[in-house]
Amino acid sequence: MNFENQSSEDAEKTSSPNRLNRRSFLHLAGTGLAAAAVVRAAGAGDAAEAAAANKVSLPPLDLEGPEQAQPLPKPPLPLNERVGFAIVGLGHLSLGQILPAFGESKYAKPVALVSGDREKARRIAKQYNIREEAIYDYATYDALKNNPEVQVIYIVLPNSMHADFTVRGARAGKHILCEKPMATSVADCERMIAACETAKVKLMIAYRSQYEPFDRAIVKAVREKKLGELREFVSANSQNQGDPKQWRLNQKLAGGGPVPDVGIYCINAARFISGEEPSEVFGQVVRKPEDPRFVEVEASAQFILKFPSGLTAACSCSYDSHRSQFFRLQGSEGWAELNPAFAYTGLKARFRHKVSLHDTTLEPAIEAKNQFALEMDHFAECVTADRKPHTPGEEGLQDQRIVEAIYESARTGKKVSLAPVASPRGPELMEPKAD
Ligand code: NAD
Repeated sequence: MNFENQSSEDAEKTSSPNRLNRRSFLHLAGTGLAAAAVVRAAGAGDAAEAAAANKVSLPPLDLEGPEQAQPLPKPPLPLNERVGFAIVGLGHLSLGQILPAFGESKYAKPVALVSGDREKARRIAKQYNIREEAIYDYATYDALKNNPEVQVIYIVLPNSMHADFTVRGARAGKHILCEKPMATSVADCERMIAACETAKVKLMIAYRSQYEPFDRAIVKAVREKKLGELREFVSANSQNQGDPKQWRLNQKLAGGGPVPDVGIYCINAARFISGEEPSEVFGQVVRKPEDPRFVEVEASAQFILKFPSGLTAACSCSYDSHRSQFFRLQGSEGWAELNPAFAYTGLKARFRHKVSLHDTTLEPAIEAKNQFALEMDHFAECVTADRKPHTPGEEGLQDQRIVEAIYESARTGKKVSLAPVASPRGPELMEPKAD
């Protein structure tokens, strides 16, 4: 046999004749050889003696194999030991995703609501067993400081409101989890980081993709050099926006159109998956002021990020085309993709690289997890363990610098150089857990 062309699985079977583990048993079963082997073993007695010269000795079946070595997931905490969250803003994301996600959380619980609509807040509070005295509005928000049940404030308001509510929340002595985009200007991001540092509270930006298992499988493949050297990242995040009156189409409240809202997923994925920071940005935006939706913000945008290693990210985002969400990362030795990517559910990962000398396409069976529960649990663990979160304010600040560079490039028609920054991913950050 030519061992050079043999896969590692075949080599294992050949070199370990005394072990038949579950994998090789199933492989043999597929070929019919296992049945023959088992029949030969069971039919011992006289026939075995007669066949002594050809005696087959079978190993014990090891049906559990290394799967037994899997660590047990950490159990959920009882409610009275969980970190208490106040949810600020009861719009689509809070009602549709964040509040229901507490049902799948292990370490976090909702204990207060902040809303401009008291009746709505009362109904929601009842549903989630939140005390009526723990309902606040935007004017009484600062009184959260007198509520010891609240350790974390989760800000889920229109983008331009994130900065003031973070600063006020930090002054109230609470840790802040803030939705993406972090803010609508670099200056506001810096103000938020400074306020949390001064108040000695933690600040995390809610980049849920960085906590979920599909994206993390791709990060792992990249770190293990399964794709070789990274060359190109290609990505899109698009959706049609309807109501022209919504805040997302208002420049002052949103800070831009699809770039800071959905384009930021492409920007952030290119950065956290590669582990690099871009040095150059080139962008263009498509404006359609004749469409009532796009009087103030761009309809779509395309941009290229260049990274010091030579990796490029070519990205497209739109408020004017059908939902399309994907990325593919191409390396010198393989590629990996999520298609769809960025969605709350239904993510699919594919990899192509060498497996046992052969170029192979893999669609691993990854167990989906609730992304909001994972992200909130991470922050709850950071609060309990007094650690800096995996996606701190500096992560949102860097994305905002890139958003502003895209707009500057689109305005001037020239590429924009970005100053080198210290990586926001240092060893002091808490790593997200696998479960
Ligand atoms: P939404 O419009 O559904 O909700 C916004 C909430 O803010 C509403 O309850 C509204 O009443 C309140 N609000 C207070 N002041 C307001 C004002 N001046 N104008 C408009 N609304 C005001 O928005 P949403 O989709 O829930 O988004 C909220 C935040 O969450 C945004 O920053 C958005 O980027 C982010 N978001 C993140 C994800 C994610 O997957 N991480 C998904 C959607 C939205």
